Amino acid sequence: MNCCDFLLNQICFFPDEICPCCSTTIENTPLRPKTDRKNSLSFNLNMFFDLRERYIKEFKENAPFCYKNCTLYEPFYGTIKSTNNIPFNYITISNRTYCNCDCIYCEQTHNSSREEINKFKPYDIIPILEELKEQKLIAKNCKFVISGGEVAEYPKKELQYIFNLSREINGSLLLLSSGIRYSEEIGDILRTHNAFMTISVDSGTEKTYKRIKRVDAYEQTWNNIKQYIIDAKNNPNANVELKYIVIPGVNDSIDEAKKFIEKCIEINCKYIKTEIEHFYMKENYNNKMPESCKEVFKYFFQIVKEKNLKLMTEGVGRPWVMSKINE
Ligand code: SF4
Ligand code: SF4
Repeated sequence: MNCCDFLLNQICFFPDEICPCCSTTIENTPLRPKTDRKNSLSFNLNMFFDLRERYIKEFKENAPFCYKNCTLYEPFYGTIKSTNNIPFNYITISNRTYCNCDCIYCEQTHNSSREEINKFKPYDIIPILEELKEQKLIAKNCKFVISGGEVAEYPKKELQYIFNLSREINGSLLLLSSGIRYSEEIGDILRTHNAFMTISVDSGTEKTYKRIKRVDAYEQTWNNIKQYIIDAKNNPNANVELKYIVIPGVNDSIDEAKKFIEKCIEINCKYIKTEIEHFYMKENYNNKMPESCKEVFKYFFQIVKEKNLKLMTEGVGRPWVMSKINE
């Protein structure tokens, strides 16, 4: 065992945590220092660096504590030259919680309401990025992932700063959006930079959309997606991916999936992503996948070949889906 790719290469800024890996998957990992608002951001960053260094050393010694009970571990196959001051190849920015959507599977609102979560006061990410830059901790070609919260609701100044930084280092961007609001800044970055956008629609009908998203924005979301696809059309380094998170008992119907694919084709979307809803997977890790879900995944595998679309089964649920689908 060499090391975990996330531990070496990624830093994630969540509303009250700085950590190397996705917050949805790993509970109780020790590598999750809380951002302590009483202390400076440098203090919090340094606390993260100390922990990171310690856990990288533990991997080297073949006794990685953070790996214990981890379902997300991604092996790193290169050579580890040093255990500290390693520049990040991936920076996930998710310090903001405000969202214009209210998905039933949202991790943020698992123990709270959207209204409450939207009141959370975020810390400022710009000084943190400046500090990382100054310390030469942002790798050339680094990929910034902006999630949240809703990326189109980030303050313009913050989005522009991140976009400019990405241009400066010839990096790339992955923007995770609800699609409910069209952003000129995002439209521009899709036209001119290495930018990928993922929008989860999870439905092909208004009724199911409303049930999952709990907002009334079906038509406007598809219209915005259509515009983003036009924005990205002539840029070989950009694309817009539409996602269908399969939620047992909610959208695990072939009919719904077919309507979703019809909408994608209608607006010229070529990139489809799918995954299993993560709370369901966590609770049913050792159980079989429902037949209805298997059918939907199989339908996606089949239709993308027929229609010449690109499909990615993604996320932490990928190994689970692939192992359960033919059980
Ligand atoms: S082994 Fe797991 S907990 Fe540790 S950094 Fe990797 S993904 Fe995170
Ligand atoms: S779009 Fe994302 S942040 Fe917003 S409610 Fe849905 S899952 Fe949560």
